[in-house]
Amino acid sequence: MEKEFDVDYRCYCGVHYVLKTSWTDENPSRRFLGCSNYRDGNGCNYFDWIDPPIPNRKKSTFLSLLRRNESSEVRLHRIENKWEFVEGEIQMLHADIDRLEVERHSFEENLRNLEQKYKFIVYVLIAVVCYSVGRSIVS
Ligand SMILES: [Zn+2]
Repeated sequence: MEKEFDVDYRCYCGVHYVLKTSWTDENPSRRFLGCSNYRDGNGCNYFDWIDPPIPNRKKSTFLSLLRRNESSEVRLHRIENKWEFVEGEIQMLHADIDRLEVERHSFEENLRNLEQKYKFIVYVLIAVVCYSVGRSIVS
């Protein structure tokens, strides 16, 4: 049976006690009331269980589930770290793409300039050939 407790009740030092939950292997997820000054070392050691003791069979099942959950959290944390790494890689790839895009524009500009120079040279050659052919026909 779960105990009823009065939230206005105070511990031996006269302060409101606090409701806490034990996560020890012996008492996993078992609630208790304790002195709120306990951690400071100035407390009165007031302590009272709220929940009844957990039967051994349920305790081992609960601990097994708790450990499985912890290992899932570790895996999740590992996946989150990998995801952060992948996001970093993606950002670097985006930066590479931007840099390559700038280089591509520069190459295209150079290519256009070269095409114009070659066209001019071809026109000059055609003009020279036409002039030479015309002179040879006339003479
Ligand atoms: Zn106290």
